[in-house]
Amino acid sequence: MQSLTNRSKVVVKKEMSFWEKLYLPAILGGLKITISHFFKKKATIKYPEVKRDYAPVYRGLHVLKRDENGAERCTACGLCAVACPAEAITMVAAERKPGEEKLYREEKYASVYEINMLRCIFCGLCEEACPKEAIFLTDKLVPTFFERGEFVYGKNKLVEDKDNPVDISKRQTNAVLEFKKNKDFQHNRLD
Ligand code: SF4
Ligand code: SF4
Repeated sequence: MQSLTNRSKVVVKKEMSFWEKLYLPAILGGLKITISHFFKKKATIKYPEVKRDYAPVYRGLHVLKRDENGAERCTACGLCAVACPAEAITMVAAERKPGEEKLYREEKYASVYEINMLRCIFCGLCEEACPKEAIFLTDKLVPTFFERGEFVYGKNKLVEDKDNPVDISKRQTNAVLEFKKNKDFQHNRLD
């Protein structure tokens, strides 16, 4: 059959030498490589007993923040859901009733707020889009579950515990922290 290209190469079967036929030099060479790895720094760790340090800006599980008075900051504006490329966020907005000022910071709040962690790609765009500093990503990992439904995180899992607030200061630049001190901006006032 005629060759399609002129790049064909004739393969010659080379006879093995005496040492090659013994196989021992090749085995010893392989063992030398294996043993040399015993003395090199290990690339793996014994997880979960040993854990690596994460970068301060590692993007893990989300938290819905409360303000300094313990009221939920989220005002159900929907910007995070619009910004989310994975369409992982859903919410239902509700109007704050008289007497609920201590529960919700704004007149509108999210009565339902859900993130599907199976869809989320932890890009952090929801955090960037939020005008109320209500949603942040933390360094926590999403645990594994057996049921798909358990990966849909509602407010019961997302809103931070009043008595155990999540420190997100590491995720904010100095410029943002300075901006937050200025009460001339309505963003920084509770009224
Ligand atoms: S981290 Fe990204 S993918 Fe996940 S909910 Fe936020 S915007 Fe969506
Ligand atoms: S988390 Fe922020 S962006 Fe998302 S609905 Fe609440 S206030 Fe709006």
